[in-house]
Amino acid sequence: MIPQETIAKIFDSADIVDVINDFVNLKKSGSNFKGLSPFSNEKTPSFMVSPAKGIFKDFSSGKGGNVVTFLMEHDQLNYPEALKWLARKYNIEIIEEELTDDQLAANNAREGLYLAQQYANDFFKDQLYNTDEGKSIGLSYFKSRGYLESIQKEFELGYSPLQIDALHSKAIKEGYAVENLEKAGLVKKSEKGWYDFYRGRVIFPIHNITGRIIGFGGRTLRTDKKVAKYFNSPESEIYNKSKVLYGMYQAKSSIIKEDCCFLVEGYTDVISMHKANVKNVVASSGTSLTEGQIRLIKRFTNNIVILYDGDAAGINASFRGIDLVLKEGLAVRVVVFPENEDPDSYSNKISTSDFKLYLQENQQDFIAFKAEQLLKKTNNDPVKTAETIKDIVSSISIIPDPISRSIFIKSTSQTFDIDEQMLIQEVNKKLKKVPGSSYPPVYQENFKTTLPAKTYEKGAKHKLDIQEKDLIRLMLNYGSLSIPLEIKAENGETSEEQYPLAQFIIEEMLTDNLLYKNDIYQNIFNEFVDGLENGLLINDQHFIQNPNLTSIVVDLTTSENTLSENWEKKHQIQTKTEPLRLKQAAIESVFIYKLRVTENLILEKQNQLKGLSNNKDSDIKLAEINELMKVRNIFADELGIIITQ
Ligand code: ATP
Ligand code: MN
Repeated sequence: MIPQETIAKIFDSADIVDVINDFVNLKKSGSNFKGLSPFSNEKTPSFMVSPAKGIFKDFSSGKGGNVVTFLMEHDQLNYPEALKWLARKYNIEIIEEELTDDQLAANNAREGLYLAQQYANDFFKDQLYNTDEGKSIGLSYFKSRGYLESIQKEFELGYSPLQIDALHSKAIKEGYAVENLEKAGLVKKSEKGWYDFYRGRVIFPIHNITGRIIGFGGRTLRTDKKVAKYFNSPESEIYNKSKVLYGMYQAKSSIIKEDCCFLVEGYTDVISMHKANVKNVVASSGTSLTEGQIRLIKRFTNNIVILYDGDAAGINASFRGIDLVLKEGLAVRVVVFPENEDPDSYSNKISTSDFKLYLQENQQDFIAFKAEQLLKKTNNDPVKTAETIKDIVSSISIIPDPISRSIFIKSTSQTFDIDEQMLIQEVNKKLKKVPGSSYPPVYQENFKTTLPAKTYEKGAKHKLDIQEKDLIRLMLNYGSLSIPLEIKAENGETSEEQYPLAQFIIEEMLTDNLLYKNDIYQNIFNEFVDGLENGLLINDQHFIQNPNLTSIVVDLTTSENTLSENWEKKHQIQTKTEPLRLKQAAIESVFIYKLRVTENLILEKQNQLKGLSNNKDSDIKLAEINELMKVRNIFADELGIIITQ
């Protein structure tokens, strides 16, 4: 039991922004902070932290709470574990009351594992720095690799001595729970007795994102090929390999600062890059990236740069894995090192500044790189070339953002000198084949679809709220995307121009002096107009700062959640296919709205007409009604609706 006054002290000391920043890249936004939800896979931040209120709210998953419930949700901790986590962070001593034997014994399996890793690492570090063997073998090895003491300390490097059971016998002597060391894979039992798993190896501890040790890599110092160069910890309750990246704890603040993450192969590459003062680097430890690892990177940046060794063997094999990264919506670039060099060897060969320059100057977009690599092997064979194009097309079709897809289609069409429209069709074909794919196809100007049924009825009074909402929804979701519009010049010639969707809607509203009935929509609209006057196309991000508009904007832009199938059916608005018929969607939304407004006006004037006895007044009213009917018919015409007299 943690005493009540200690709990109060923990709550008083814990700064929610400081704590959540360990897990989520938070940016100041008005009086709040915002970031990408750690509970879902999102592209636009909808995770909010309010330091004033001491709360967080995740609009994408609906979760919300205080600093303790955040830790409970995020790290799957129970209440006392979360409190202890905070107590450790803020150096608050917890003197527990009346711990029962059960509680003592249990004191939590996870915590026991964490402590075992820490116990072992303290031992490995002590061995490295304070024993003759550690100094002469371990330290001199690290020195030979050029690791300065500051880097050794930052990565908590250690040394496991040659004696077969050094760690085990220390644990026995000190009465330390050997079962936890065994569970963590640090000591093992054979017929001959207990032995240390990592004996005679230098130690690279693996940290989780909060800096606690969850596993180890141990490198042998023997040069014979009989033993594996590296030993690694098994998975455990605290070490899920598919969700961990080596070096993330040391890299995360630099990744945020640089808005970019370098990906290398292993321990020595990460540390050598740090040596060269490139700190935004993590390693996947040999295997290809998993979805969990990609999401981990995505919490801090959307830009990943993969560093390839200079031997071509691994490169082509990695392409499949990178499709997964593209699928998660990250921008992927690659750097290839010269032959027989890896980040570790190359950073040691050339100066730090030359190394940094090399990284900068040799970055290449992944799709272009892949195209180039595959094209090299086709030798102008048309069949192989066709296969290669298919391969590239499949990578492009995986990218969720339609605009990025269009850009890659363009560059691929140039690289291979093939028709862009044909590539668009190929990509679209592919998109249809992905089961359950929610990606909108590549937007194609002359894509023909029929407009959905119109919700318009002649002579009826129409509600406007749905249409107002739809206009705002379109602006928030696609405002900066271009739609092709026919523009008539003064000399009567028409030409097609690309127009941002938001600008189209704004101009349509302003030319007819239309105001939204709903004040909130009008406020959002006004912000768009202000932005445009300053030459800015604002987007939904803009409103997340505004506490009065946050929830409505979040509501209108989280289409998956709020625009349910039912909502779509009821209002005949098809958001899933919308991006491929953006122009029609915009025109339709504007003119249905105008049509309804006009119909309401006509109805209003017809009612007024009934009350008029004076002929002259009636004539004026009738003329007004006729004018409005003409206008109404123009709008109907735009929509392809024929109004019968
Ligand atoms: P060398 O000094 O011979 O270059 P190294 O320790 O740098 O050896 P490499 O063989 O160059 O190791 O491999 C690069 C990285 O790949 C290592 O730092 C390590 O993280 C990872 N790695 C290599 N082999 C293994 C393995 N068997 N298990 C896990 N990781 C490995
Ligand atoms: Mn190496």
